[in-house]
Amino acid sequence: MVSRHLNPDIARERLIKHLRGRGIKDERVLEAFRKVPRHQFVDGAMYAQAYDDNALPIGGGQTISQPYVVALMTELLELGSDEKILEIGTGSGFQAAILAQFSRRVYTIERRRELGEAARKLLRAMGYENIVFKIGDGTHGWRQHAPFDKIIVTAGAPVVPRTLVEQLSVGGRLLIPTGDRAYQELEVYDKTDAGIQKRSVGGVVFVPLVGEHGWEGR
Ligand code: SAM
Repeated sequence: MVSRHLNPDIARERLIKHLRGRGIKDERVLEAFRKVPRHQFVDGAMYAQAYDDNALPIGGGQTISQPYVVALMTELLELGSDEKILEIGTGSGFQAAILAQFSRRVYTIERRRELGEAARKLLRAMGYENIVFKIGDGTHGWRQHAPFDKIIVTAGAPVVPRTLVEQLSVGGRLLIPTGDRAYQELEVYDKTDAGIQKRSVGGVVFVPLVGEHGWEGR
C-alpha cells in the first residue's frame, strides 16, 4: 500500500521532469521510468522518498541506485529493441525492470541471496518474464549465456573484470564504475573488430563489487 504522503503518479511525473532537466534525452528511458513503480522496490518506511533523486537503503548495507544514475546508465547503453543484457548487481531489481522494458532478455546476477530472491519474487509478481536471475559472484559473468550485447555493472570495481570484457559481443558495450571504494569513474567500453575503446563519463559513488575479480581479497 502506498503511503498517504505519496501520490506515486504525481511523484513519478515530477521525477521524469527532473531527469529531463538533468539532461536525460532518450524518451524510451523516460517512458520506462513512467512504467516502473519505484516505490514498490523500496521498504514501506521509505515510500515517501521513493521518487526523490537519491539512492536508498535496501538492506544488508546495499542500495537501490539514484534514479538519475539509473537513467544515465540506461541511456548510455544505447539499447536496441532486441538485445541480450547482463546486469551485475540485481539489488532491488529496479534497474533490471527498467532494462526489461526494451530488451529481449535481461540476465541479472546478485551475490546476496536475500536480495536476489526478493527481487526475483517481486519482478515475477509484477509479471516480468524476460528477466533471468542468478545468485552468485557476477565478476565471473554468465558464460553459459554469453556473449551479451550490453553489460552493466551496478557496483564499483577496482578494475574492469576481464571475464566481462570477454563475454561482450563485438559491437557491444560494457558500463562499469571503477576506482576506489569511496569514489569511481563511470567507464564505457566498446568492443569493436579493431579492439576495445574506453572512455570515462564522470564520477559516481557505488557500493563495492565484491568478488573474485572485484574487491575480494584486496
Ligand atoms: N541495480 C540495483 C538496483 O536497481 O537496485 C542496485 C545495485 S546496488 C548499488 C549493488 C549491488 O551489487 C548490491 O546488491 C550488491 O550486493 C551487489 N554486488 C556486489 N558485488 C557483486 C558481485 N560480485 N556479483 C553480484 N552482485 C554483486
